[in-house]
Amino acid sequence: LSIIEGVEPRISAAIKAELADQRGSLKLIASENYASLATLLTMGNWLSDKYAEGTVGHRFYAGCRNVDTVEAIAAEHARELFGAEYAYVQPHSGIDANLVAYWSILAHRVESPALERLGAKNVNDLSEDDWETLRKSFAEQRVMGMSLDVGGHLTHGFRPNISGKMFHQRSYGTDPETQLIDYDKLLADAREFKPLILVAGYSAYPRRVNFAKMREIADAVGATLFVDMAHFAGLVAGKVFTGEEDPVPYADVVASTTHKSLRGPRGGIVLAKAEYAPSVDRGCPMVLGGPLSHIMAAKAVALAEARTESFQQYAQKVADNAKALADGLLRRGVRLVTGGTDNHIVLLDVRDFGLTGRQAESALLDSGVVTNRNSVPNDPNGAWYTTGVRIGTPALTSRGLGAAEFDRVAELITDVLKATTPVTASNGKPGKAKYEIAAGVAEATQKAADEL
Ligand code: PLP
Repeated sequence: LSIIEGVEPRISAAIKAELADQRGSLKLIASENYASLATLLTMGNWLSDKYAEGTVGHRFYAGCRNVDTVEAIAAEHARELFGAEYAYVQPHSGIDANLVAYWSILAHRVESPALERLGAKNVNDLSEDDWETLRKSFAEQRVMGMSLDVGGHLTHGFRPNISGKMFHQRSYGTDPETQLIDYDKLLADAREFKPLILVAGYSAYPRRVNFAKMREIADAVGATLFVDMAHFAGLVAGKVFTGEEDPVPYADVVASTTHKSLRGPRGGIVLAKAEYAPSVDRGCPMVLGGPLSHIMAAKAVALAEARTESFQQYAQKVADNAKALADGLLRRGVRLVTGGTDNHIVLLDVRDFGLTGRQAESALLDSGVVTNRNSVPNDPNGAWYTTGVRIGTPALTSRGLGAAEFDRVAELITDVLKATTPVTASNGKPGKAKYEIAAGVAEATQKAADEL
């Protein structure tokens, strides 16, 4: 840090402050974690300075032998860890991984058959007219993913995201009573909509998904099954999700981040059945440029860590701790979406406290409990203020907290929510994040958070 301080002291100060923030609070953001020191150190080195567009052994730049080594090892760990036929480790983030997935499915299912029909080897051989026809046919394709309101991700066909603009889109929701995926309704909707791609996966759904059923639905309508396991990849890697809960044997293409429950560097990966491998391999140049070689190296290190027995124990604790947290909250009268959890996410519905999600999030932050507000199904407060707070256990489980400590966390959260009252703004609206916490509660919770 002293070297950084000599160049730009404000940056070294921010890095130090971030360390203090992350150590001095309860980090309960469901998509965050603490990467190991080995992973962090692997990210910060001279591999960053190398350009390596292309694939292993087939680069558009000279001098890539070390990047070849790094990428091949990362892909090998990913294949073996997840039992995948093919792994691609270049995507820079989860969104990039999803873009690689979408475009490789389009390349495999739309572009390749068109090229074959037209007797062309690649798109550069097409006449202007044929190219224009093919280009338009990409935009005619249909995708069906989980609605953002019930926990899907914005890359699953949400209009403000490129996925909603690339495709005709229809989303599936959850049952209004149980708040769980209704597979029969999903099948009926899919039969009607006939998507090219069925997307499974979520950012804020606190339950496991049955991927065997998703496969049946995809097969019934001739869709490619694409699973975005960004959130729960650590639970798949750690063998908590097995059989029908493991997406890899069932999906044609699986994308993931590497930095959430998987506990690696920020980045993405794509796994695929062999049939899709050649098109996934064209992630660069389809949607990516030069891979981040230092990040691929850190992915290799984190994936190697995820292949150990201790990671399996960690993953099981992530799920056990989420259950302990959910039980602790339910016992104290907090309403939870779906009535509980069986993954790493707990989604609180805070309307009974008279608060919006935003007020609850801010009050908890003031008390050293870091969470994020989130919509609940049919949210009366909309996507900005929201009615929910999303909580996840991966990060604090990495810090060694167990079920007893998570029960204490449930107590602290309930105490803060009970002690918080909304303050209505002068215009009568719920106000930005206006709220008041009863005297002493935020300080007491912050102290308890430090001790935990
Ligand atoms: N997919 C899902 C399900 C996610 O929850 C997220 C991130 O929140 C992403 C993709 C995007 O990941 P990134 O932020 O690395 O682009």
